[in-house]
Amino acid sequence: MKRVYNFSAGPAMLPEAVLMKAQSEMLDYEGSGMSIMEMSHRGKMVRSIFEEAEGLFRELMEIPENYQILFCQGGASLQFSMLPFNLYKNGVADFLITGNWSEKAKAEVSRYMSVNVVGSSKDRHYAYIPEIKPEKLTPNADFYHYTANNTIYGTAVHTLPMTDAPIVADMTSAILAKPYDVSKHGLIYAGAQKQFGIAGLTVAIVRDDLIGNAKEETPTMLNYKTYANNESMYNTPPVYAVYLTLLVLRWYKETFGTLAKVQEHQTHKTGILYDFLDQSALFHAFVDKEARSTQNVTFGTKDDALDKLFVDEAAKVGLVNLGGYRTIGGMRASIYTPHPLEGVLKLVEFMKEFEVKHSV
Ligand SMILES: *Cc1c(COP(=O)(O)O)cnc(C)c1O
Repeated sequence: MKRVYNFSAGPAMLPEAVLMKAQSEMLDYEGSGMSIMEMSHRGKMVRSIFEEAEGLFRELMEIPENYQILFCQGGASLQFSMLPFNLYKNGVADFLITGNWSEKAKAEVSRYMSVNVVGSSKDRHYAYIPEIKPEKLTPNADFYHYTANNTIYGTAVHTLPMTDAPIVADMTSAILAKPYDVSKHGLIYAGAQKQFGIAGLTVAIVRDDLIGNAKEETPTMLNYKTYANNESMYNTPPVYAVYLTLLVLRWYKETFGTLAKVQEHQTHKTGILYDFLDQSALFHAFVDKEARSTQNVTFGTKDDALDKLFVDEAAKVGLVNLGGYRTIGGMRASIYTPHPLEGVLKLVEFMKEFEVKHSV
């Protein structure tokens, strides 16, 4: 059997222990004689998987009592559409634009309401985090939206605005990577396949007062109330995806205990790569220092052909999916929490050798 170090932006590496555990329980889950995939979501076993997963989210993220943890489908992308249906009041939303995902969220929201951009880093390919000017915020905005970690360009947002509007965060590539103050947010959502599981599950953490105000014509499955009132089981939920998330959350707890420890781990892992990039004669990091992500590291050599060669050669030694996003080029190493330290050490070792071979 061969396992590679997968630097894909998502779906991404899962902890090996999680995959092994899932394998061992594949045919017979806890003596039931069936796989979780074959089991009714109305039964006790599935219910306890949902409850434990929810409890672990609450514990790890220190989620206050007045927030619901909802297990949705449709990816983070469907959340873009759910926001206007559920949060519409006056018809304006503020947006901080830090990359393609914030652009996509804005595009969906703007089908249903006006959108006001409070800052954008588009002018320099999203290589920095724009300043939020207080005078740009809309009084009585229905919500303020930002993307906590820009997966494509590799930047992270560290500041929240002074606003009375509920703050909504797309945390798909950020959640569980460090402690976030949930109580400062009205709504946090994240697709599972980057930081805590597999595609098919999206978690939405929603403050109670933001549930139940959707307009009458809101489709049932786009209404957070449907999930809140039915323990995320109004229709057949993605049980296996929730089960895998439970295994990953248990792994977080056993391996790190707290998100402060996860943050140390992420900063250490990506720091090794950034330190190398900052002194390298051949490679350079794309992102301004103060804006750097601890999950997605973008870099290049200033020579497209050499970048391509790097990606190809790296793949040959088991460092795969290092190509940058198609509109950006260069390289991107996505290093989510489950990505082992050894993968990064091996990558930096390979970069050193490549640099010696190709320096002019
Ligand atoms: C990957 C990603 C998405 C899209 O997630 P889907 O689950 O594929 O819809 C949205 N936002 C961010 C920040 C992402 O990294």
